[in-house]
Amino acid sequence: MAERTVVIVGMTGSMGLQSLEVIKKLGSFDVLAGTYHENRNSAEKLAREFGVKKVLCTKDGYDDLLRLLEEHRPDVTLICIPGFVSLQITLKALETSKRVLLASKEALVCGGWLVREAKEKGGCELIPLDSEHSALMQIYEPEVEKVMLTSSGGALRDWNIEDLDRAKPEDVLKHPVWRMGKRITIDSATMVNKGFEVLEACELFKLSANQVEVLIHREGLVHAAVFLKDGTIKMHLGFPDMKIPIAYGLTYPKRNYENKSWPDLIGTPLKFERVDEKRYPAFYLAYEIEKDYAKRTAYNAADEVCVEAFLQNRIKFTHIAKVIERVVEKIEGKPRDFEDLKSIDEESRRIAKEVIECL
Ligand code: MG
Repeated sequence: MAERTVVIVGMTGSMGLQSLEVIKKLGSFDVLAGTYHENRNSAEKLAREFGVKKVLCTKDGYDDLLRLLEEHRPDVTLICIPGFVSLQITLKALETSKRVLLASKEALVCGGWLVREAKEKGGCELIPLDSEHSALMQIYEPEVEKVMLTSSGGALRDWNIEDLDRAKPEDVLKHPVWRMGKRITIDSATMVNKGFEVLEACELFKLSANQVEVLIHREGLVHAAVFLKDGTIKMHLGFPDMKIPIAYGLTYPKRNYENKSWPDLIGTPLKFERVDEKRYPAFYLAYEIEKDYAKRTAYNAADEVCVEAFLQNRIKFTHIAKVIERVVEKIEGKPRDFEDLKSIDEESRRIAKEVIECL
């Protein structure tokens, strides 16, 4: 069987790295190219180790990558970079690839309708790599009444709410369940990440936000559930290991990846808790802005600016939600295309910085 060609956008990050490991284990893939942003040494080392044919730097922009996608038209493109910038690449990948594996939720949060249109136009498959959405895809049925996504609650889930003001980046970067990049680890503690995931689920499965429930599940074994009309609940369980959704996305509809280790169900009580509105105000904002792509773009942009400021100790942890709320409130508009979203993104960043200055 001919090898399937793959391009990995964001090869040196946590998802990119795990993708390379899965690809190596599966065999039968030919990695045409991988991109990196800053980490040149690591990218070159990975390329040698995993036989990646070409390494592209994206620090000065994504033109080379867009050209490469156009020229090579890969079988599979994996998009594993955070941020608004992932939207443009996702749109191009949907136009040029047979299958897109999407780890970047921002593309759907900001430009969900553009992604859906590009997918239909290109006839490309779009498979989520987010663990909860991969789980949903595996158990989904058309008769779904509502779905449930789980959340760990992030690194500060057991802190007193009054102490959250004092949380430092090093406290927040200790994620209780998953090992991930810095931004998503901070986003887990504010649960902005889960707000993104609610919107992501709406786009992928054509649901409205009130059909997407989120519960805190500390064990990290249940990733998602679907509630069916006849009283059935189907849950998806497994160890928290991103390699499983990556392998599923690469081999779908087959399951060629071997990993025979399952959670021990004896002595593992599964517990679920509601998401506390006081602890996670930025999460609940996602439900209010579901139908408004301008505000959704602002939600993401303000969060990107806040996470960076928090990591540099310029704002407090609790400021993140406040700044996002203020920016989302101010941004209005009816974006029609990518260019409109881009100016909303830029405007939101500018306002976020202003709000931070005035804190
Ligand atoms: Mg997730």
